[in-house]
Amino acid sequence: MKSRFCLPLLLITLSGCTIINNSTSTKKLESGLREHVAFLADDKLEGRRTGTAGEKLAMSYIAQQFQKIGLEPKGTDQYYQSFLVNEGIEMKEGTTLTISKSVSEGTVVTKKLNISKDFFAFPYSANGPVTGTATTGLHEVGLPRLMDINEVLEDNASNPHFDLAGYIYEYSKNAKSKGATSLIWYNPGKKEDKLVFNGKDKSPTIDIPVLYVSNAVLNEMAKEDELGTFSFNGMVQLGEKKRSGANVIGAINNNAATTVVIGAHFDHLGYGEDGNSRYEKKEPAIHNGADDNASGTAALIELSRILKRSTSKTNNYLFIAFSGEELGLYGSKHFTDHPTVELSTVNYMINMDMVGRMNDSTRSVTIGGFGTSPTWASLINKPSATKNQKNLTIKIDSSGSGPSDHTSFYRKNIPVLFYFTGLHTDYHKPSDDADKINYKGMAQIVSHVNGVVKGANEKGRLAFLKTREAQTTTTARFSVSMGIMPDYTYSGNGVRADGVTEGRAAQQAGIKAGDIVLQIGDYRISSMESYMQTLGKFKKGDKTKVVYQRGAEQFTAEIQF
Ligand SMILES: [Zn+2]
Repeated sequence: MKSRFCLPLLLITLSGCTIINNSTSTKKLESGLREHVAFLADDKLEGRRTGTAGEKLAMSYIAQQFQKIGLEPKGTDQYYQSFLVNEGIEMKEGTTLTISKSVSEGTVVTKKLNISKDFFAFPYSANGPVTGTATTGLHEVGLPRLMDINEVLEDNASNPHFDLAGYIYEYSKNAKSKGATSLIWYNPGKKEDKLVFNGKDKSPTIDIPVLYVSNAVLNEMAKEDELGTFSFNGMVQLGEKKRSGANVIGAINNNAATTVVIGAHFDHLGYGEDGNSRYEKKEPAIHNGADDNASGTAALIELSRILKRSTSKTNNYLFIAFSGEELGLYGSKHFTDHPTVELSTVNYMINMDMVGRMNDSTRSVTIGGFGTSPTWASLINKPSATKNQKNLTIKIDSSGSGPSDHTSFYRKNIPVLFYFTGLHTDYHKPSDDADKINYKGMAQIVSHVNGVVKGANEKGRLAFLKTREAQTTTTARFSVSMGIMPDYTYSGNGVRADGVTEGRAAQQAGIKAGDIVLQIGDYRISSMESYMQTLGKFKKGDKTKVVYQRGAEQFTAEIQF
């Protein structure tokens, strides 16, 4: 589950006889849940990161379970539906740089530079050769240029909002017209430039190669104060970095007009390589993801077993184990953009993400999406759902959007419910392990979902209602937020708003869902990271301008945080 959301809650308490501690079927259910969580959260699966061998082990396990239960394959390749995760730009192997310098009469030193360590190409650099000589402080037409970053920092020392990365991009964009064949930025000064290769930077590509070379290398070769003239011989080869993931999809075809989708993501963080871990220690560790979301996946498998036995045929069922959720809802977005059943026949969607840590004393579960259909109110407390549910406390949240896969279905105007037993201290840490899972609580949730589905089977097609957007909380790092739900799967320049929260800064500036934020104040927004960094530069009450794109048109508006 992605962080950054809070859920305003309403409490409902239920009482009645218990099913948990006596029926054999519940015992069987609990042991099935335990078995699935034990397998999925095992170190062998190395945290089930999308695109890894661990993900594939999980995929085949889930497909085997679906097959055993008798679900029909409903992916694009049997049970699987693969998709690509665009990870931005990477420097391909062909990227090289060799520098030569004549140090004394007839003596030339030559050094082949290490990629990333000694140099990198900016992600918006053109691909192509970097050849010719360049002299510090001298800009000649038809040759590469050495660009002194320290000078730029000095010139802009008085501007607290100075955006060095933005400056370098803007300058580089026009350098060809000034006669440069390539640019080599270096920093001879003491001031830090914090420039690194950022593959997520999606600024439009420019027309000449642009590189950064570490000053240490130039100094070492120069062995004098004055750096002087260097000959460059290299090649820039950038390309898209992609990895693939796959959803696992099984179906029960009752030849009904409508289909119910039940979903849960099975991917998790691996060793935390994607920057979404809350683990601070240095040595890499497996994030087992027992609660997030082996628990929901286990519940999904057991629900398919229960519904396979169900006599009610008023709906077909689709069980989807999503991947790519931790990267930004990639799997569910891919499915709703490339559905393997007519999306218009989907009656509603129920998502389970982190249902394994029910608190034993409060016995509470949060159900989100409550406001997405007028029918939910009658179903969630319906006896078919609450029967045999001792002391289950249900907290509801009306919003159809939030930090998990139901949001992709809600965006397609499909009523959704989202089951969640709450955050805990092991969230997104290696310590989210199977021995902390509350299997009795999970069994209660499976029965509740089963009850809601049963009740809904008598209701025909559920009506859809739009709700307010889930509140995006300002995380500790930022004192302000714009109130947009970023589209994490968007791979173009800027940040695309998937949703805009009522009454927040972005909405008041006129930004709508689908718009792309390109600039805030003087800061160009080229990626999710630069958007986050830029937010960190403003404080509550600050007024500035925002530039955003809608279709082919660009708008500039005032925004107040
Ligand atoms: Zn999750």
